[in-house]
Amino acid sequence: MDRNARIYVAGHRGLVGSAIVRNLQGRGCRNLLLRTHAELDLTDAAATDAFFAQEKPEYVFLAAAKVGGIVANDTYPAEFIHDNLAIQSSIIHSAWKHGVTRLLFLGSSCIYPRLAPQPMKEEHLLTGPLEPTNRPYALAKIAGIEMCWSYNRQYGTRFLAAMPTNLYGPGDNYHPQNSHVIPALIRKFHEAKVAGSPSVTVWGTGTPRREFLYSDDMADACVFLMELPGAQFEPLLAGDRNDGLPPLVNIGVGEDLTIRELAETVRKVVGYEGDIVFDATRPDGTPRKLMDVGRLYGMGWRPQVPLEEGLRRAYLDFGLR
Ligand code: GDP
Repeated sequence: MDRNARIYVAGHRGLVGSAIVRNLQGRGCRNLLLRTHAELDLTDAAATDAFFAQEKPEYVFLAAAKVGGIVANDTYPAEFIHDNLAIQSSIIHSAWKHGVTRLLFLGSSCIYPRLAPQPMKEEHLLTGPLEPTNRPYALAKIAGIEMCWSYNRQYGTRFLAAMPTNLYGPGDNYHPQNSHVIPALIRKFHEAKVAGSPSVTVWGTGTPRREFLYSDDMADACVFLMELPGAQFEPLLAGDRNDGLPPLVNIGVGEDLTIRELAETVRKVVGYEGDIVFDATRPDGTPRKLMDVGRLYGMGWRPQVPLEEGLRRAYLDFGLR
């Protein structure tokens, strides 16, 4: 991508989309095509197509999605399947129709079966039942991968899917009930520090293991994939002809830690000196969710931001709101 390339970042106000925009601006890209939700409703296929016809993007980062934690997924399953299917269907179809050079479709690790072997490899897709609480979201994302694959096969497009592990970073959702674990813990430890509370309660037993990727590292991996030379990019798309792999790449850091270790690290970063109490009546969720990042690491990419440093930056961001 040269600095004048026409690059559409769909979902540029979200955690990943905003990080992609920062990354591209840092590289001097000056032709970013951005539309807010109010300006362009991506569930509207005709409006999306008119946008593609007018702006003719060359590269598309598909980071627009209906996302949320377990409570939101459970409360709005219809929106989670409908909106995600509609958004990705409009964009992928228009990207083909208007000759987009490359497209990167983003999802999450919940596309893999609930009991997938650890670490989870790209070939574990569609090998077992999904976690029921976010199945509508996961199935929409799986349909998006299949759509990229189908268009690549039938039309020779270059559409790749990238599935990240748990993400965190500036602009995260810090809602006390609906957020993911890192923003929730930042808020809890900060509020306990300010109030001088003797302890902070963390959900579950503290034993589940999770992997966390800083949003700027995620953005860097996305741009890395988008910029791969053809000799490396093309084989990622050709799975149907070679080894049966979908056009899919995991993005992660290759290691995980327990929720207890995470809570201790957040406590240190926030500077809270009280105790940590585990509430085992709250759900632990999946015992482990570690990505196999061999495919991505094999191409030379590595994350730059260690967890503690990322947590410092996230805490700073929390303090600024
Ligand atoms: P998951 O990776 O899909 O399970 O999503 P979460 O980020 O919501 O939860 C990760 C783990 O952190 C689970 O084992 C939770 O029980 C645990 N956890 C501990 N305290 C909290 C909290 O305050 N909020 C959330 N969301 N999770 C917490």
